[in-house]
Amino acid sequence: MDRRTFNKLITLGSMEMTTSGLAIPVGNPSASMTEQPPKWPNQVYRRFSIDTHVPDWDPQLLGHFDPADYVGNIARAGFQSMLQYTNSHVGLCLWRTHVGQMHVNMKDRDFFGEVVKECRQHGVHPLAYFSVIFDNWNFEHHPDWRILGAEGNNARLQGRYGVVCPNSPYRDYVVACVKEIVGNYDIDGIFFDMTFWPDVCYCPHCAGRFVSEHHAEPPRVVDWDNPTWIAFQKARQGWLLEFANTVTNTVKSIRPITVNHQYSTIFHNWTLGVPLELTQACDYVGGDFYGGPAQQSLVCKAYNGLTRNHPFEFHTSRTHDPTDHVMMKPIDELRTESFVATLHSAGLLLVDYINADGTQNPQVYDAFKQLNEQRAVLEPYLGGDLLADVAIYYDKVSMYNPDENGIHITKLQAVDNCPHRDAVVGAARVLRQGHIPFGVITNANLNQIKGYRAVILPNVLELTSEQAKEFRKFVEGGGILYASGPTSMDRHHDGIPTFLLEDVLGVRYKGKAGYKKITYLTPKDLDLGKAVWPQDHVSFEGQMIQAEAMPGCEILATITLPFVDPYLGHAVGSHFAAIHSDPPALKPGSDPAVVVHSYGQGRAIWVAAPMESKDEAVNIRLILHLLRRFIAGQYWFELDSHPAVEMTLFNQTAERRLLVSLLNIQQLVPPISVGATVRVQLPTGRSPSKVVQVPGLKPLPFTKAGPYVQLKIEPFDVFTMALVEYQ
Ligand SMILES: [Zn+2]
Repeated sequence: MDRRTFNKLITLGSMEMTTSGLAIPVGNPSASMTEQPPKWPNQVYRRFSIDTHVPDWDPQLLGHFDPADYVGNIARAGFQSMLQYTNSHVGLCLWRTHVGQMHVNMKDRDFFGEVVKECRQHGVHPLAYFSVIFDNWNFEHHPDWRILGAEGNNARLQGRYGVVCPNSPYRDYVVACVKEIVGNYDIDGIFFDMTFWPDVCYCPHCAGRFVSEHHAEPPRVVDWDNPTWIAFQKARQGWLLEFANTVTNTVKSIRPITVNHQYSTIFHNWTLGVPLELTQACDYVGGDFYGGPAQQSLVCKAYNGLTRNHPFEFHTSRTHDPTDHVMMKPIDELRTESFVATLHSAGLLLVDYINADGTQNPQVYDAFKQLNEQRAVLEPYLGGDLLADVAIYYDKVSMYNPDENGIHITKLQAVDNCPHRDAVVGAARVLRQGHIPFGVITNANLNQIKGYRAVILPNVLELTSEQAKEFRKFVEGGGILYASGPTSMDRHHDGIPTFLLEDVLGVRYKGKAGYKKITYLTPKDLDLGKAVWPQDHVSFEGQMIQAEAMPGCEILATITLPFVDPYLGHAVGSHFAAIHSDPPALKPGSDPAVVVHSYGQGRAIWVAAPMESKDEAVNIRLILHLLRRFIAGQYWFELDSHPAVEMTLFNQTAERRLLVSLLNIQQLVPPISVGATVRVQLPTGRSPSKVVQVPGLKPLPFTKAGPYVQLKIEPFDVFTMALVEYQ
């Protein structure tokens, strides 16, 4: 499974180092494109890199590399940092080294060193790119270092990418390279790409290590109910984290520059073996994404809570697909994507691709310049604490396909079908389009739940009793919890599957209801019925969870089965209710589909299937109805605008102001301008003093609307910002 496959699948339909905080440092108004270089990394929002995975078998390859031209283009376009390749997936070194194999066409030059010098002359922060694990040179020259998949190496030998195992002596090679690079060059940071397991490795180094640590052979059957399999997955994650920490500590032992590792693996399935705790080895998080603005927005919400320092960054390239060298995204599309970063007070690392001879297409830099100029004027106002009411809970341990349990690893067909991710992505779609202020928490930062009023547990397949305890406490204290499908089910509870949150959800697990082909949710409650009007049912492609509602619960909807088992009907003998479809039974079923239960001072909403997963307008209305109905009280903000508009709100305490940002995420570009009415809640005890547009600081009229400050936003095409000052 290639990391980039995930990036496509999740397209969504459409340092001064401290470890404490989530607060994003507020920008310095002097950091514009023309003045003094901004401080790395706090003030650097316009970041850049150029893919340079170029071998040396032909003398023309990188043969015309000219660092003055190269950095000149980058600086002219207004980039503030440059992530320059020291090596690449090809494994050849682009710096003067006594450790690795230098790129032959570099001759007696030092490409990396020349770029670092040029960057310093242009006031661009130079950073080093280093590809780990993906290293063709070492793959070729050290067969005993190779990652060995369950099916051997044939597929790797037929493909282009050679991968080596971080449990092999390759680890020492990386450490030696890092010492040279960090010791010899004047860089501000280093990024390690590809810190993950591209294959499940069964090489002698891994197998031997697992045997010595767990006294068992590494298992080859993927079985989430088997303790040895789970131990193996945990070992893979632990080994990777140990490797990342070794690399990071090597850098830090030489100089206190920033270090981060590829973190686009965050929403990937289990195979890459990357725990969310990789953040321990990263001063800030960052990774590349190609799924468009909706995907990047969800990633930013997750990164915002996970990063140890701000700003975090996301990377995207100038082409839709990193395997295409020339086909450029329309500039309007790139503009929307780059404003996703601004919307979250994040850095954007744009990626270009070097021509085979080491030159660039200079016209591309004219286009980048336009984007950078538009974002630069907003940067002095970025930062603060993201204000949100609802958290989506993302659980990395649930990132597997439950339909492929007990399958030999070589027989997996749909390893990336992760229903938990579909539900997380769906929940984000509901909240974004419904203009509900939201963030993301994960199994690695569950303690952040206390900053929210409600939490969504979308189809969470794995939950520990400690995590269940946290959620119980949350509801007890007045929080609202939404849980869908099998969330909180303990499959091994005294041999009987049980909901760990049974007492909170008010439902007892019984089994599965309905059919894999289709099952229906039927509103019983009048208001829920209005939410799905004019439909009388909502279909779900799959089985639902059958449960018994405990006394005191309110049942808002029930499960209705099709008129007849969908698998019985055939051409001869009929035995279906309609030839094209499987219409619902004539009478609604009695098993609960939506249950509301009061617990402590809070409430839980349980839905028998992850209805949030499906990208249908009626599903969005259904979930929005439930959330709005039960999350009482004021939200941090309200937004009256088109569903394509996403808003964020940051509190900048020291500056006594709220930062309001709106992004128009229309799929067809150029986007049609839209206006908006925004209502924001000020921190307790504060009153509004002034509202101004950003940039320009032109005063905007505002009114008081109940507990909110209300302002009108004039029609804008892609992005707009305002500051609400308070006293
Ligand atoms: Zn290995």
